[in-house]
Amino acid sequence: MEPNQNNWLRTNWIEKGTAQRIFVELKFTLRDCNSLPGVVGTCKETFNLYYQETDSEMGRSLRENQYVKIDTIAADESFTQGDLGERKMKLNTEVRIIGPLSRRGFYLAFQDVGACIALVSVKVYYKKCWSIIENLATFPDTVTGSEFSSLVEVEGACVSDAEEEAENSPKMHCSAEGEWLVPIGKCICRAGFHQKGDACEPCGRGFYKSSSQDLQCSRCPAHSFNDREGSWRCDCEDGYYRALSDPPSVACTRPPSAPQNLVYNINQTTVSLEWSLPADTGGRNDVTYRVICRRCSWEPEECVPCGPNVGYSPAQSGLVDTYVSIVDLLAHANYTFEVEAVNGVSDLSRTQRLFAAVSIATGQAAPSQVSEVIKEKVQQRSIQLSWQEPQQPNGVITEYEIKYYEKDQKDRVYSTVRSKSTSATVNNLKPSTAYVFQIRAFTEAGYGTYGPRLEITTKEEATGRISSAIVSSEQNPVIIIAVVAVAGTIILVFMVFGFIIGRRHCGYSKADQEGDEELYFQCTKTYIDPETYEDPNRAVHQFAKELDASCIKIERVIGAGEFGEVCSGRLKLPGKRDASVAIKTLKVGYTEKQRRDFLCEASIMGQFDHPNVVHLEGVVTRGKPVMIVIEYMENGSLDGFLRKHDGQFTVIQLVGMLRGIAAGMRYLSDMGYVHRDLAARNILVNSNLVCKVSDFGLSRVIDDDPEAVYTTTGGKIPVRWTAPEAIQYRKFTSASDVWSYGIVMWEVMSYGERPYWDMSNQDVIKAIEEGYRLPAPMDCPPGLHQLMLDCWQKDRAERPKFDQIVGILDKMIRNPNTLKTPAGTCTRPISPLLDQSTPDFTAFRSVGEWLEAIKMERYRDNFTAAGYSSLESVARMSIEDVMSLGITLVGHQKKIMSSIQTMRAQMLHLHGTGVQV
Ligand code: AMP
Repeated sequence: MEPNQNNWLRTNWIEKGTAQRIFVELKFTLRDCNSLPGVVGTCKETFNLYYQETDSEMGRSLRENQYVKIDTIAADESFTQGDLGERKMKLNTEVRIIGPLSRRGFYLAFQDVGACIALVSVKVYYKKCWSIIENLATFPDTVTGSEFSSLVEVEGACVSDAEEEAENSPKMHCSAEGEWLVPIGKCICRAGFHQKGDACEPCGRGFYKSSSQDLQCSRCPAHSFNDREGSWRCDCEDGYYRALSDPPSVACTRPPSAPQNLVYNINQTTVSLEWSLPADTGGRNDVTYRVICRRCSWEPEECVPCGPNVGYSPAQSGLVDTYVSIVDLLAHANYTFEVEAVNGVSDLSRTQRLFAAVSIATGQAAPSQVSEVIKEKVQQRSIQLSWQEPQQPNGVITEYEIKYYEKDQKDRVYSTVRSKSTSATVNNLKPSTAYVFQIRAFTEAGYGTYGPRLEITTKEEATGRISSAIVSSEQNPVIIIAVVAVAGTIILVFMVFGFIIGRRHCGYSKADQEGDEELYFQCTKTYIDPETYEDPNRAVHQFAKELDASCIKIERVIGAGEFGEVCSGRLKLPGKRDASVAIKTLKVGYTEKQRRDFLCEASIMGQFDHPNVVHLEGVVTRGKPVMIVIEYMENGSLDGFLRKHDGQFTVIQLVGMLRGIAAGMRYLSDMGYVHRDLAARNILVNSNLVCKVSDFGLSRVIDDDPEAVYTTTGGKIPVRWTAPEAIQYRKFTSASDVWSYGIVMWEVMSYGERPYWDMSNQDVIKAIEEGYRLPAPMDCPPGLHQLMLDCWQKDRAERPKFDQIVGILDKMIRNPNTLKTPAGTCTRPISPLLDQSTPDFTAFRSVGEWLEAIKMERYRDNFTAAGYSSLESVARMSIEDVMSLGITLVGHQKKIMSSIQTMRAQMLHLHGTGVQV
């Protein structure tokens, strides 16, 4: 009731600790002034709240005016006196916040200026965020910030066996209200541990976790294990490995087993190896292959690494495909090749290397190039050359051939000189003329390739000598007259001589031996084309004898020709013994053109007289039927004869036949006759196995030939036998006959096999153009195959002449050793040609079908009885296997083996199926 009340109440000193914002909660009751009579003017319904910050207790020294006012507190609820009796006191709660505080502690003070008030409680407190674990990070107790709006950023600490996620460390924010807000980043369990609740636990035994990034522990992969807890990887079982690059999640692996079915093929000094995948890749798919080459001495077997001179295609190691070619080996040398499969763990393994190996003897090879040629002496008319032996002679060099031609001559006519030593002098050259020289070496294996071209110009003619000759002839006209007279006489003699011997062509020809050239005079009868006769009847009677039909006795029909039947019979000429003859007849109702064409063959044949050219006995033109009478060839045509006697002849016998054909062709080419259809079917064989060239004619021969087909250049051509230039632009020459002769050689050595098998003509043309050539037939001596290849030189000037062919064959016959097939070699090389040319043996569905195709069906039961029921099993057969079936005929054994080898080559090349040889 008294005015100017000023009553203070103060708290003890309160230490604030870490708090920055302090909450003060007051609970109080207050009477309203209206309910108090007589206090108007002095009664108040509020009180004041103050605080004072200090760093320590101040005792009573603080004065009123040093306190800072927080607020005037009014009651929301007040009560009157009347209420008191009913004990209806109403409690007020008011909260005030102070801060930010900067001293160590503070006092609170309450000022009452006249209110009737009861302060029931004062609660002083601050707020914090309680420690928690969030995202595997622990966040400690954190006192809220000083401002109402501030967030306190707190770094979390990873729980044990956890680590912070890269660039994402854990953080949270403590709000003023003591709540955790905005979590950022996290921790993850390290390798070997996985999360369970708010902790990281170790992986169990047999489990691993390789990285903190992985969520779960995984079971150990195949062939690995662990027997500890908390592992980040599993260890490999014995014999299994992990490559450095292998992650712990992949199975442990091991080196692969050896490659399988290693097969080889030798082509002179090149060996091709092929194999199939190892049975066990070790569980990896990074298998590659490496080949180790060793050259071995024959006896005692000692092997040394092949060294850097040997080439590997595509590479020696790191081979992804299952084949490799090894080139530049030495000829006639023994080699061992080991093919090893390797994978990513091969180098880690200390177990024994596993490999497939073959021992091979290389074959004959022609010498390498003669490259270092030196001009020793250049004269006006001669040049002396010397050179080094080729780097790889591959045998004993018996001869060098020096080929040369005038550089500026249009139709390059080559001349050759031979020398047994590494030097030679080429004579009879023109002065001041540029010549191009090339040299090649010759060994038993044939000619090597020519070395690079060397151009040399002969010296100028000494002008002094020429002028003196002119001067002297000028001075002495008698000399000129004498020279002219002598020359005229020589020409006259030649002309007369030529007239006497008739159709003979004479000329100078160069022959050279051992580097020395000599000139000899040679005369050859020249063939005359009957077409050049206006009256074809005259031609017939010029070259063929008219026979009396009564001398001819026809016995039986032996074949069918284009113009009529071919019969056998006998010819009895007066005063002569009767002889077996073949009689070709012209069918009745012929046209004049047919008669002319029919007799044309006689007009041609009648011009020839050679033991290896079918002999014409005569013709019957003045009676009917019109007949051509020819010597009888008991064994018919060569192709059928060989097929009938498959495998029954010795190599010498076969070469003997070839020699005969070559001699016949040499005769014909010397006469200037180009056959155009030389093929085994056009060679006839008599009872003494003498082969004779037959089937003459002009266009009709080819029209008659079932092998001839129309080509794009017009005209019919027996494509398989014909040289490319003849197919392309009808350039038929003796050189194209040489090509055909090469095919005949192949037919003979393969006992009548069809050249290029069942390839289409178009494919044959394409293959030849791309440089493919027929491979050596089974058991064919390499020297003979080389001769075939020479006949099939693209450049016709490079092909041997028939004369040279006869010489080479004679040499072979004299030295049968050169006809031996090197033992241990695969005699039918798997050449790329086989890819395209052989009949697709894999197309046969059964062994029976295959035997039928090769005309050996009589052995069907032998194969069945021995359990060869599939072509795959047949393809694995060796010659011993074939013999063990009870096939005793050598020819049949060879035929079957030859077909098996071809089949094997096909499976290998066409289908990639390796077959163990
Ligand atoms: P050509 O019309 O000359 O092809 O003869 C047709 C067939 O008759 C030939 O394939 C031979 O089988 C046969 N022939 C032709 N000439 C003779 C011959 N001089 N001796 C035996 N058979 C021959």
